[in-house]
Amino acid sequence: MTASTATLTLKQAAYDAMIAHAKAGYPNEACGILGGGADTGERFYPLKNADESPISYFMDPKEQLRVFKAMREGGVEMRGIFHSHVTSEAYPSQKDVRLAFYPEVSYLIVSLSDMEKPVLRSFRINEEKVSEEEIRIV
Ligand SMILES: [Zn+2]
Repeated sequence: MTASTATLTLKQAAYDAMIAHAKAGYPNEACGILGGGADTGERFYPLKNADESPISYFMDPKEQLRVFKAMREGGVEMRGIFHSHVTSEAYPSQKDVRLAFYPEVSYLIVSLSDMEKPVLRSFRINEEKVSEEEIRIV
């Protein structure tokens, strides 16, 4: 048994909000921020994809500031960064890896390649090394 498998605990409501936001953004990628405590994702903050693209996302900096303020007021920290892949699998692209600047948060990706069965996976990315973590929905 490997002792080092990390786990992200995710509140059902946050999970549902992520999937709904990804579907609403389709056919473009959607993005947002997950707020929570040390190992739990409690609340999802949807953001607009300023790229309006099916192959990339960019969080609007002004919206991001509003989310950081809302998290501060709600007493939660940034716990994860979320975006969707509309046709490819739920795995970080080379660009996702290159632009992952926060080793202390989770990178959550949902694939909508099967719209009926979205696949959500979570990763830590540290110095361009990707490791998957388990998601436990509570
Ligand atoms: Zn991506």
